[in-house]
Amino acid sequence: NGYELLGELGRGAFGTVELCERRGDLYAVKILRKSLLRKARTGRGRGANALADARREIAIMKKLDHANLVGLVEAVDDEKAGKLYLVLEYVDCGPVLERRKGGDPPYVAIDAVAARAACRDVLRGLEYLHASGVVHLDVKPENVLLTSGGVAKLCDFGVSRLARGDAGDAAVFASTPAFSAPELCGYGAGSAAAP
Ligand code: ATP
Ligand code: MG
Repeated sequence: NGYELLGELGRGAFGTVELCERRGDLYAVKILRKSLLRKARTGRGRGANALADARREIAIMKKLDHANLVGLVEAVDDEKAGKLYLVLEYVDCGPVLERRKGGDPPYVAIDAVAARAACRDVLRGLEYLHASGVVHLDVKPENVLLTSGGVAKLCDFGVSRLARGDAGDAAVFASTPAFSAPELCGYGAGSAAAP
């Protein structure tokens, strides 16, 4: 669709995120390989695979429009190449916290004023999301991106769900255990001991 790829911005479980340009404007494009997505089971039942999650990610992002959420410009389903492209608003300073491989603490610290501003922005995004009936389910530093103007934006709706207001939903949600509320990890009464 007229985008020129310029280089890798990040990597996820099923593909890469690349910087790209069209008519002088920069975008980030998340490129997902459908054959890999189809093979990755994400829950019980037929059709519970990462491809269904990616299609849900697109459907959810299309509903959203907020300054503290990374916007979807367009989604392209390339049948021939077997790829899904999510063209996203480009957030030029990357994740709010840098991860240190094997480091302790695991992230490079930022100052309290910047942390406070980022938290405020994330809460604004979450408030809008929840009012729209969407639960993000994977809020963590890698999924909070920062603009050079100092605005934090939540990205990665890969495991998000439209909430039905049904508490039982929580049981089937998958996210990043280290950043989940304990009751979402399935370590409650009657289940296996917490790690
Ligand atoms: P995960 O394995 O965490 O689910 P993912 O495949 O869902 O990853 P994202 O979290 O959406 O992918 O993106 C991976 C990384 O790519 C981000 O952590 C970030 O570094 C970079 N990235 C994603 N979207 C953008 C964007 N709009 N602008 C700039 N960088 C981005
Ligand atoms: Mg991510």
